[in-house]
Amino acid sequence: METLKGIPVSPGVAIGKAYVLHSEDHFNFPARTISVADIAKEIARFENALIQTRAEIMGIRKKISAQIGRESSDIFNAHLMILEDRTLIEDVISVIKGKKVGCEYAFTTIMQRYFSAFAQIDDEYLRERISDIRDIGKRLIRNLCGEKRDHVELTENRIVVAHDLSPSETAMMDKNKLLAIVADVGGPTSHMAIISRSMEIPAVVGTDGATLKIQSGDTVIVDGTHGVVILNPDVATIQEYTERGYRISEQITALDKLRDLPAETKDGRRISLAANIEFHDEIPSVYSHGGDGIGLYRTEYFYMNRTDLPSEDEQYRAYKQVAESMKGHSVIVRTLDLGGDKFLSSLEVPNEMNPFLGWRAIRFCLTRVDIFKVQLRAILRASAHGNFKVMYPMISNLNELKQANVILRDCQEELKKEGLAYDPKMEVGAMIEIPSAALISDILAKEVDFFSIGTNDLIQYALAVDRVNEKIAYLYEPTHPAILKLIRQVVESGHRHKKWVGCCGEMAGDPAIAMLLLGLGIDEISVSPFILPKVKKSIRSVNYEDAKLIAEKALQFHTGEEIRVFINQELKRVAPDLVED
Ligand code: PEP
Ligand code: MG
Repeated sequence: METLKGIPVSPGVAIGKAYVLHSEDHFNFPARTISVADIAKEIARFENALIQTRAEIMGIRKKISAQIGRESSDIFNAHLMILEDRTLIEDVISVIKGKKVGCEYAFTTIMQRYFSAFAQIDDEYLRERISDIRDIGKRLIRNLCGEKRDHVELTENRIVVAHDLSPSETAMMDKNKLLAIVADVGGPTSHMAIISRSMEIPAVVGTDGATLKIQSGDTVIVDGTHGVVILNPDVATIQEYTERGYRISEQITALDKLRDLPAETKDGRRISLAANIEFHDEIPSVYSHGGDGIGLYRTEYFYMNRTDLPSEDEQYRAYKQVAESMKGHSVIVRTLDLGGDKFLSSLEVPNEMNPFLGWRAIRFCLTRVDIFKVQLRAILRASAHGNFKVMYPMISNLNELKQANVILRDCQEELKKEGLAYDPKMEVGAMIEIPSAALISDILAKEVDFFSIGTNDLIQYALAVDRVNEKIAYLYEPTHPAILKLIRQVVESGHRHKKWVGCCGEMAGDPAIAMLLLGLGIDEISVSPFILPKVKKSIRSVNYEDAKLIAEKALQFHTGEEIRVFINQELKRVAPDLVED
């Protein structure tokens, strides 16, 4: 039995067999044993992958040579030399034959030997050749596995263990067979974590090498509430966690009884409690957990896992379905928030050094107005069938907001001319997720009907902490005084201009923080559907006047830790059963 610690990102307990995803980046393959009869087949697989990789490299070299010049294309000669290196090839073949193992394992074992040998070389130039070897190795493994990680097929109930999982890989997994997720890397507000919460699948990230320790088929316990992964547990531990799992389900069922009650404080302040969704099929869960509406509909998943872009009609039909299913309840559709940790296979967006700071979200849409207009027209048309609102992600200045609004108005004009219906009063909002936007919220407020504070990004930009990096996750502090001050400023600016202000970041799903946000004057909280009951309970347990005092006092502390301790104590006073042990 071994216990691995990680970051808890999606609550709940799961017990089951592991399925370790081979990561082409990670050179980590289990030693799959083969029979003597299969040796020739494995060698042939390896040789075919070599041929395929060589052909790819020659193709790239030709392209680069034509586009940039001979000199640049020479780098690929080094790659070809590695692939043609007889010693390497023979070493791999001898591991396959000698150990009777699969060629992926044999190849990566030899690769690891090369990495260590090169790492010890004194000559810097030669040492840097490691990246060439790694690059070529990754390509060869991809060809060897013939496996597109975008389509992870689970044939049985499994706990998926991976070095890293993209949001689209997570979303594509069969929810009925996926018991839990364990990842070596990642942060609490990475989109993979958000998706696992939406799917109600327990998840732990940042486990520092789970893929190296866990083998496919091992029994594993995942405690997504406390960030614990137990490998090969004994009978007593299995029993203990099974009971813990029951207790969590009982708590969820008890809280779901609040479903039909409003998110209203004891002294009568009612806020809107809405849900964040990515997919239409989450709507029943919004209802079953008592959401007032949808506070954030992340539309980018509609564009992912496909090779073409969704047409206006296709989007219109999908959004209309959401509008109708929500039967007049408010739905805030966020326009395409491509980038960061979400990429579209249909668009050739160049790799960037800092994708979270790059050509993403509204910046992308304002350059690709063609794509933006298709989506805005579809949203506008769907607004005729329900209570739709639209908001733009990643607004950083006034100009972007004005430009987006001009394009929206152009779309309205076009639809009017074409005789297509839309709601001319559809509210328009800006997400406040960049500190610059929070600081000029007073100016932005004049251009919108509402603000929605996206704290997932606001925290990463204000505190300079990559939201998907587990190594610095300890710095990702929602209760940092700077964050609370930014939120307070946005709420005050909005209210001064009679605009309502919501918060759709993940931090609002923490019942103690929800109480704090309430005290800061937030009008709407939007979180993953299954977290709604906890937040509702927190709101219903407190007086608004007290929440305001709590927020005031919290703002006087100097550190996030002090604020965290203080609000947990306050929550414990009013709703002890909401505080985790
Ligand atoms: C946010 O940044 O807080 C947010 C809600 O948007 P996303 O998590 O999709 O970036
Ligand atoms: Mg965001």
